[in-house]
Amino acid sequence: MPEVLAFATDDASCQFHRTTITRREPGPTEVFFEVAYAGICHSDIHTAKGEWGPTTYPLVPGHELAGIVTEVGSAVNKVQIGDRVGVGCFVDSCRACENCRAGQEQFCTGPGRTIWTYGARGRDGLPTAGGYSQGITVEQDYLIRLPDAIPFEAVAPLLCAGITLYSPLKRWGVGPGTKVAIVGMGGLGHVGVQIAAKLGAEVTVISQSLAKEADGLRFGATHYYAMSDPATRKALRSSFDLMISTVAADSNLDDLLGMLRVGGALVDVGLPEAPSTLRLGSLIGGNRVLAGSQIGGIAETQEMINFCAEHGVVPQVEIISGDEITGAYDKVINSQVRYRYVIDTSTF
Ligand SMILES: [Zn+2]
Ligand SMILES: [Zn+2]
Repeated sequence: MPEVLAFATDDASCQFHRTTITRREPGPTEVFFEVAYAGICHSDIHTAKGEWGPTTYPLVPGHELAGIVTEVGSAVNKVQIGDRVGVGCFVDSCRACENCRAGQEQFCTGPGRTIWTYGARGRDGLPTAGGYSQGITVEQDYLIRLPDAIPFEAVAPLLCAGITLYSPLKRWGVGPGTKVAIVGMGGLGHVGVQIAAKLGAEVTVISQSLAKEADGLRFGATHYYAMSDPATRKALRSSFDLMISTVAADSNLDDLLGMLRVGGALVDVGLPEAPSTLRLGSLIGGNRVLAGSQIGGIAETQEMINFCAEHGVVPQVEIISGDEITGAYDKVINSQVRYRYVIDTSTF
């Protein structure tokens, strides 16, 4: 059984420490890959702090993994030793239910449901452990092939942040002539701006302040507004075909919905903790749509990675060591990261 170094937290205080975890030997259709880089997603922090329900500790988070295949099972045909591969938010599902067959494995309703990359229970009965580790064993069908065109140290955040934004942009048919607003310019938003711009849309960023305006324009936005400015709501009235809110803090949904054109959609991917309220008149007046979106399936994630490689979409990352994870959590919470922390697992 492969033993790998990892960083874990033993409780909700999120004091990460070095540890050793055991991975299973790859079965016939499984692959073991050495994790080189792992992104820190805000979801990791919510889970590690127990904010999304009970968490089992010790916890090794991480659902943005990029690595190199070092061992393959006898029936593996999708990848070879030496290939660059990635894993996102889940590592297995039933493959037979309606949602799995439709390529939406993140909504698996079969036995065992979607098996999340960490904090869940795998088919082997053991707790799953994520990317803050030097290696992982995964079913080949749940791997994403990583093109060389994307810098290896920057690719990991696409596996959650990238697909989270790409999927709704595709679902609403964004392209030339579409006016898109990305609400929030963090780990998710800064990738969303790039993808929407490369799809040909006219992109506006609505951020809390103008502090990241130069970055937003560099990522491909043509307009940048501060939500804190009272003039913004009026200036952007009835402006957008699609808005994607990446903000986890409470937003005024009525204000945002008022910025949609007739028939426009506001998609939330930010998952605020508290229940949200809105006036339904904000939807009815203008045939507007309020929707949600949760990551994407394996095929769409591969499509997203290939799109990003072809169009030069690259997350802006800060590389950190294992010892810096604990401090990085505080900086993510305080919006001090530009724009995603990526752990270099060779520092373990
Ligand atoms: Zn994530
Ligand atoms: Zn299923």
